[in-house]
Amino acid sequence: MLSPYANPPATLSAMSARHDLTFASDNTAGICPEALAALNAANASCVPSYGEDATTARAHQLFRELFATDCETFFVFNGTAANALALSALCARHQSVLCHEIAHIDTDECGAPEFFTGGSKLLPLPGASGQLTPATVAAALTRGHGVHFPKPGALSLTQSTEHGTLYSPAAIRALADLAHAHGLAVHMDGARFANACAASAAHGHSPADLTWRAGVDVLCFGGTKNGLLTTEAVVFFNKTLARDFAYRVKQAGQLASKQRFASAQWCAILESGAWLRHATHANAQARKLAAALRVLPGVTLLHEPTVNAVFAQLTPAAAAALFARGWHFHPFIGEHGYRLMCSWATTDDVINDFVTDLKSALNGTL
Ligand SMILES: *Cc1c(COP(=O)(O)O)cnc(C)c1O
Repeated sequence: MLSPYANPPATLSAMSARHDLTFASDNTAGICPEALAALNAANASCVPSYGEDATTARAHQLFRELFATDCETFFVFNGTAANALALSALCARHQSVLCHEIAHIDTDECGAPEFFTGGSKLLPLPGASGQLTPATVAAALTRGHGVHFPKPGALSLTQSTEHGTLYSPAAIRALADLAHAHGLAVHMDGARFANACAASAAHGHSPADLTWRAGVDVLCFGGTKNGLLTTEAVVFFNKTLARDFAYRVKQAGQLASKQRFASAQWCAILESGAWLRHATHANAQARKLAAALRVLPGVTLLHEPTVNAVFAQLTPAAAAALFARGWHFHPFIGEHGYRLMCSWATTDDVINDFVTDLKSALNGTL
């Protein structure tokens, strides 16, 4: 019910005045200028393959600097592979992964975590605003009896969450402490980790505060939704868990022979600060969109945006008119609670166009 992809708007293929995917997801945008320039620059010479190049070494060093710790980083092509392979390093096949019931690993990865762990069972758990609490996790830890139920192996948290909310460092700490006390490792799905960092910076929280200092063992740090082409970083803070991870990456077909192109993009956005700038922009655009929607009669904001997602309830007629006009976005909460994603590339103009069309839709003139 919560997957945006399970229920595409009926009018997706209809003839329409425009064909605008701006708000459908933050992965509909293109490659950010810094990454594109880095790809071009990396194209100039022949370098060692399979990550043996100097740019990859530099990228690894930049992750250590960003997180202010001696972490170990690997690059894969997408978030599904990052999550599934990370979980396979944390969780044996007879164990379980505790996650939120709307977690991408459960709803949108086609069983890849189960496949790459070799059979670990995902235990989807409820929680308001896409977040788990220690009470829910504690209850799940005592499910089943002995060998008849999988042994809990990992806790997976999404930051920022699928509902556009944030875990505070203290909330992560409480969950991680509980997990570690029961022998579970802590995985963070950070497909939108940059957006979480941008929002958390306002509270004085650093990337380290949101991860290893709060007990996260491994982070899947998204590049794609923040403007990179086909690269996500798997960052191990608990380096013991990274043992043989390079083999898992290779076996899964995720080791790029031309890895310099992934590394160069990471170097470009980490060195220039563009990774945080783009995420800050995406978050700000979501606030702008929310501010414009909040005042419209017939629109209900379902959450105040903390990161780059706006969730709004629209009337069925208004939503249908927008779809017919060619706007693409997904139902996400209930039948008419829609998700509008902003990205590094979302402009003021497109927000204004959308709001203008929505106003017309609401008064029946679109
Ligand atoms: C987008 C996303 C991913 C990664 O998806 P891929 O399409 O496999 O790159 C992972 N987790 C969350 C929460 C996401 O939104």
